This record gives sequence, structure tokens and C-alpha cells, in this order.
Amino acid sequence: MEPFVWPELNALPGIVHAVFTRHGGVSRPPYATLNTALSNGDDPNAVSENLRRIASWLGVPVLAAVPQVHGTHVAVVDEELLSAASRPLNNGCPLVLGPPADALVTACRGVGLMIKIADCQAVFLVDPVRRVVANVHCGWRGSVRNILAATVDVMRTRFGTDPADLIAAVSPSLGPCCAEFRHYAIEIPHSLWSFQVRPTYFDFWAISRHQLAACGVRSENIHTAGECTVCRRDKYFSYRGEKTTGRMAAVVALT
Ligand SMILES: [Zn+2]
Repeated sequence: MEPFVWPELNALPGIVHAVFTRHGGVSRPPYATLNTALSNGDDPNAVSENLRRIASWLGVPVLAAVPQVHGTHVAVVDEELLSAASRPLNNGCPLVLGPPADALVTACRGVGLMIKIADCQAVFLVDPVRRVVANVHCGWRGSVRNILAATVDVMRTRFGTDPADLIAAVSPSLGPCCAEFRHYAIEIPHSLWSFQVRPTYFDFWAISRHQLAACGVRSENIHTAGECTVCRRDKYFSYRGEKTTGRMAAVVALT
């Protein structure tokens, strides 16, 4: 496995993170090979093995995930959520599944917050001062509803995070080269039309940078992978490019 990592996050003590690619797992086409989703038709035994490999690579005992619904609910992963969560896969699989949400926040150590993506952004938010991490599922609907601001708000109010301390990282995802929205007039609010890079194409990486900066995250602390999943289907799963396909794992944890 050779996941995407940021040197700026690796430099922080007590944090592990990675955006895994489509390679290094056991799923068969069209989910080949490191699929992490259970809801797209893949063999659960293959997903279970893939998740074991991911947890092992990171060195975390638990991967916490939720059904992602393109909303703005932020789930705080604490002892209460973990004890109520289900374990849908057996055989020592590290997956624990909470209620539907699109962002996860935790101050618990040893719990990998996992977001599943194929063109959507996973956005890591790390507060090295308060020792809190978040992982956000941010597709275009999440961008339109500004789930990034909702997540920063929960970190601020529940954990005392100062946004000026946050380090943010935007995963490989749909790039401005491929983000065509032919129905943008009804799908994307007027306030975001200035992020149109050419007719009907939008830069959602720039939208995330803009929304994070508006929350008070310093621009020098916002890192974007800059790799487009649609262009790089050799490396990443792409929903736009393939329709029936796998989902990659983006994981961040306190150790
Ligand atoms: Zn592209």
C-alpha cells in the first residue's frame, strides 16, 4: 500500500493519517482492490480483509465510520457513541459503525476516523493544541451546505478549538479539470459561481480553501492534494468515471 500522506501532518506528534488508493486490497473488479464500502455490492469478506489491512498499516485498533448521506450532521465519536455502535463485520474486523453523519470528530486516542470516498473530498482537520481531530465527507452537496463550517463549529464549541490552530488537508478528489455541473444554475448557489473556472466547470478545491479560511483557518495551514480522482483512475476509485466502483478510505487518528 502506498497511500497519499501529507508531510505537514506527518510532522505532528501523536497523529496518524492516510488517504488510501484503490491498490493493496483483495476485492475483485469492479471494486478492485482496496474497497472499503459495504453498500455497493462488494463481498463483505473482502471488505473485512481490506479494513484489517488499513488498520494494520495505520497501527490503530478501531476504524469508526458512519453511513454518509450528503448532509451536515457532525458526529462526535466518544465512549458513548463507540459503545452504542454496531460491528457489522466479524472475524476481528476493526470496523465500528455509528449513526448516519458526514463528519466525525474525536478526542479519543486509537480510533481511526474513516471517511469513504470516490471523487468526494475527505477533509482532515487537526487541532494539535487541544488534541482533537476531524474527518469530513465533503462532496458538492457538502460544499453547497458548508459542512466544513459546521465541523469547525463543533470543534470550537465542544472542544475549545481555536480555528487559527487547525491544520487542514483536502484529499485527492474531483478536480476543476473534471467538475462539470451542467445544471449548476439549480444545483450551486450564486454565491459560489465565482469558483467557475470555465463555463460549467467548478473548482471545489478552491471552495474548500475559501470556506476553511472564512472559519479562521490560516491559509498556510490548508493543504490540498491537488490530484483529480477522475483523471487518475489508475490510482483512485472514481464514481464519475466508473459508476459501479469501490470507495477509498481516508483515515485520521490520535495515537
Ligand atoms: Zn480531472
